[in-house]
Amino acid sequence: MNTYDKQNMLKRALAEVVGDQYVTTDKMTVFAYSQDASLFGGTDAAVVVRPGSTEEVSKIMKCAYHHAVPVVVRGGGSSIYGQPKGIPGSNVLLDMTRMNKILDINKQGMTVCAQAGIMMGKLQQACNQAGFYIFVPAAPFHTVSLGGWLSGAAGGGGIWWETISVTVVLPDGTIVKTGGGPGTNTRLKHHYSRVIGGPDFTGMFIGDGGSFGVKTEVAIRLLGLPHITRACILEFLELEHVLELIRRHGERVNPHPFDPLLVFGPGATEIFSPGSEGVEKFTIMAIMQGHTEREMDAKKDIFNDIAESLGGTHTAELDAITDLMAGGGEAEEKMEMFGLSFFNGLGLAAWLPFNIPRVSFLEIYPKLVAWREERLAEATKKGFECRARFEFFTPSDQCAVSGEVDAFFKDTDSPELREFIKDMILDYQKYTHELGLLDVYNQGVMSRLNAACWSPGFKSLHTTVKKALDPKGILNPGLWVET
Ligand SMILES: Cc1cc2nc3c(=O)[nH]c(=O)nc-3n(C[C@H](O)[C@H](O)[C@H](O)COP(=O)(O)OP(=O)(O)OC[C@H]3O[C@@H](n4cnc5c(N)ncnc54)[C@H](O)[C@@H]3O)c2cc1C
Repeated sequence: MNTYDKQNMLKRALAEVVGDQYVTTDKMTVFAYSQDASLFGGTDAAVVVRPGSTEEVSKIMKCAYHHAVPVVVRGGGSSIYGQPKGIPGSNVLLDMTRMNKILDINKQGMTVCAQAGIMMGKLQQACNQAGFYIFVPAAPFHTVSLGGWLSGAAGGGGIWWETISVTVVLPDGTIVKTGGGPGTNTRLKHHYSRVIGGPDFTGMFIGDGGSFGVKTEVAIRLLGLPHITRACILEFLELEHVLELIRRHGERVNPHPFDPLLVFGPGATEIFSPGSEGVEKFTIMAIMQGHTEREMDAKKDIFNDIAESLGGTHTAELDAITDLMAGGGEAEEKMEMFGLSFFNGLGLAAWLPFNIPRVSFLEIYPKLVAWREERLAEATKKGFECRARFEFFTPSDQCAVSGEVDAFFKDTDSPELREFIKDMILDYQKYTHELGLLDVYNQGVMSRLNAACWSPGFKSLHTTVKKALDPKGILNPGLWVET
């Protein structure tokens, strides 16, 4: 059978599962999936299929497994390191975005269960309307899907610990429910714990880049929606003092998700208040979200006392922003919308993220900034215009600090600039690995860079699990493979 006949046969088989309207080999449509939000690109697919239920995904995987056809899963396509390439030209592309329903918000049990293709913004809105809070990624929450976020961005702050259960379709089509709920006790209807009744298989599917199985449904524990927001914004001149502030903050409260500390470096400060160029200062924004004015005022007073004792200073401009932010529950949503347009406006991004153990931050962070500056000097020599630098970091918990030291270039049609930025992103990550770091993103080209750091034991465990679940290597092939 030639390639054309094979593709047609596959298309017909898939159409029997999802219906004609949700499967296509149309060249324009397929081309759209070869693009994504990154400079590294999407997937070259033979067929695109858009399932609507776990059962449909299971039937698709059974069919692909039987014919040993590669399958690449796609959520919102917002990966900053590109999509899995699979086997270019032969892939069945599983577009999960039709699976976007909220299945249950259990107000009494404080859980939400949703299909994995739902966008985080839609999930957040539904939870908020029901009086609950769910953490979402800072900027692109209208394009990041629940399944894509759980699979691909498993470092830093997220909803990893709140995730109780995932329903996963394994490469051979088997449906699995993880977590101590209906998966481990077939008589139980509700998810309520992650670890009872069996090992923590939920964790195994978080950060796998989608290579162990297709996530179709997720149950997450909820928190009450905080209606009151307070902020303290101060300036610091010494990185050492910022670090001490982070330590003392983390000693008192869990910074994630209701008491985040956002730290903006000199480049970011210059974007927010032009004119401060050359001044090495850090702007700290402590956000407190909670349920009563008294609770928030007390938190704010305590934080201000600590920050001032470490040399933090207030300015009239920052105090005015602080007052504006004491707006109420929807303040966070406004900030996220601001974030979305903000990054788009800066230019073509060289995303340079990091995740550093808090105890090594003081030693490592200046090296990352120095590395970026060296590369930007090279860019200038080549005639590329850097329009902005953006340094940001936040304690994701007591142990780790996540952030970025990005650079934004004036966008042009120059393919050389795009290649330069791609190299910059990859070389930067290789440098962070030399310093003993790992990136937070388990996706695209980053997966193989991370895999190159694995110890023999970890690598062997990963190979064993992958081979057991996917003996024919059909799901997201190529991910995590070192080249
Ligand atoms: C401008 C910008 C800013 C960002 N800011 C943040 C931020 O502040 N915080 C943050 O955490 N992240 C951030 N991200 C990264 C983003 O959250 C992650 O890349 C996330 O993984 C993207 O989700 P997605 O649905 O778009 O997944 P995709 O890009 O479609 O896929 C990512 C990976 O997940 C796999 N996958 C997708 N869906 C499933 C599924 N249902 N089952 C199994 N595997 C699946 C894919 O095969 C792929 O390997 C940012 C990205 C951009 C472009």
